[in-house]
Amino acid sequence: MCRLTRLLGLGPKPTAPLVQAPGVIRRESAALSGADLIRSFGRGETKSFALKGVSAEFRKGDLNLLMGPSGSGKSTLLAVLSGLLRPDSGAVGALGQDMWQMPEERMERFRLQHCSYIFQGYNLFPALTAREQLEIVLKWGEGCSAREARKRSDHVLGQLGLANKAHLRPGQMSGGEKQRVAIGRALVKNPTFVFADEPTAALDWENGQQVIKLLTENARERGAMVLVVTHDPRLVPFADKVLELTDGQLTQEGTPAEVLERPDIHEFTPPPVRKGPRLRLHVPQPVMA
Ligand code: ADP
Ligand code: MG
Repeated sequence: MCRLTRLLGLGPKPTAPLVQAPGVIRRESAALSGADLIRSFGRGETKSFALKGVSAEFRKGDLNLLMGPSGSGKSTLLAVLSGLLRPDSGAVGALGQDMWQMPEERMERFRLQHCSYIFQGYNLFPALTAREQLEIVLKWGEGCSAREARKRSDHVLGQLGLANKAHLRPGQMSGGEKQRVAIGRALVKNPTFVFADEPTAALDWENGQQVIKLLTENARERGAMVLVVTHDPRLVPFADKVLELTDGQLTQEGTPAEVLERPDIHEFTPPPVRKGPRLRLHVPQPVMA
């Protein structure tokens, strides 16, 4: 068995407990893990490394924040862990499978079934209403009937406080509303993994807070693994785990309390978490035919 397969816990169970050396991943509880991930861009003299050997693991039910300066490799790592960008070397283990060893077709099915993505720019279809943005995921992805897709979409839009916006197109919505629709679209299919790249960057703090709360609740109440790339330290108190990348390498990993103890983070003091109206998201399970 190759070293990476063993690291990701994808092979037969070892007879002796895994020795915990620095950089070696514990596999038992991880729903998603990366081992020795390397990714470069360019060739020859212009070749540069965005990831220089990153190993990390993520559990279901956790909201993970991936932080670090601009250009440190956050988006690259998110894309590699989420099956969007192939690493030069290293491996990603997802639900016991070696993600980048899957044939393309199986990989596509895996992404469709288990992964959802949220981006800063919302990526909504301009011609579709809020309701249709969600319905399309269920009709295309799961082959839901029109009736079932509408029922589940309306339920989620209601949970997001968007019941009265269901008929609006992106051009008729505010940034906060568009991002909530994008979250609804991501969550309506009950994904195992939610990947969000700077989901609050284009929002004011009020809306940003609502977005991160929704993602946190989704992780804790539905048991999803949520990975959020951000450079906003105000999101730290909402997280279960914070990872920091510097120049393509993982330089810090800890709980929010540990991160908030660090003097550099206090250059930006997070405001207390406000108790606003709690938007609970209970995504209904698909109705079996
Ligand atoms: P972050 O999200 O932390 O800002 P990125 O992962 O986007 O960082 O980028 C990390 C490094 O990789 C940067 O130096 C960036 O210029 C480079 N990079 C990212 N994507 C590409 C690309 N498609 N082509 C060339 N270089 C890239
Ligand atoms: Mg980025």
